[in-house]
Amino acid sequence: MENRNQQTQRVNYHTHCDRCRHAKGKAEEYVEEAIRANVSKLGFSDHMPFYDDRFGLRMPYGELDDYLEEITALRDAYGDRISITRGFEGEYVREDNAYYEKLLSRGDCDYLLLGQHFYEKAGGELVNVYQLENTEGYEIYASNIVEGMRTGYFRYAAHPDLIFLNDFPWDIHCERACDMIVDGAVRYGFPLEYNANGFRRGKKAYADGERFQYPHDRFWKKVQEAGVSVYVGSDCHEPGQVYDGIVEEAYGKLKEMGIAVRTDWI
Ligand SMILES: [Zn+2]
Ligand SMILES: [Zn+2]
Repeated sequence: MENRNQQTQRVNYHTHCDRCRHAKGKAEEYVEEAIRANVSKLGFSDHMPFYDDRFGLRMPYGELDDYLEEITALRDAYGDRISITRGFEGEYVREDNAYYEKLLSRGDCDYLLLGQHFYEKAGGELVNVYQLENTEGYEIYASNIVEGMRTGYFRYAAHPDLIFLNDFPWDIHCERACDMIVDGAVRYGFPLEYNANGFRRGKKAYADGERFQYPHDRFWKKVQEAGVSVYVGSDCHEPGQVYDGIVEEAYGKLKEMGIAVRTDWI
């Protein structure tokens, strides 16, 4: 286990902290755990607040400055032991390009990850991916992700196969949505994240077989065939998860599938 990643440096660009109200532990505890686990680069990407606080399960917009100040202070305090970068994981909403640009031009926000937990229908209605009744919206979800890729605001797509947390039999919508996301990643040279947090929830019996919510093997088979660039993200919501055995397993599974993993700064 210890030797598996000896050749590659240990990095994690998908880290949460207690500001999102559903993760445990202060940002500093994640830094300390990362140092303990020999992680050389740690990126904070807590859930992005929007200026109108439209989505739940994240820091209120009023805390955005405090969060970036907190991570900046940690970056400076621990700079001789670990390289820390500051960012957010957020949804792409097409009306909000100015907001992403504002975040990225502040000077203290280094990067954004595309984490689509909601998708936007043609009329602007936002649909929560956790509350779908069928697979009919999967292609809309996929097209939102591809639009996000094209903007250039985001460095990689976090859990691009999140829709498979839903329990529906594999059908043409699943097939098409996966193809759209993988094709988009190829077209825009956009990396996809193999998300370790899906493994933390364990395997369950689904209509399309016993599997994890995500990553979904059928999606990652397509990724492998297309030769898309891949990162592993811990998506840790507790300090002990920053680079735990599950992250190691994720690297192991990708190796088995013949998928090369990047660790360079995104
Ligand atoms: Zn979260
Ligand atoms: Zn996340």
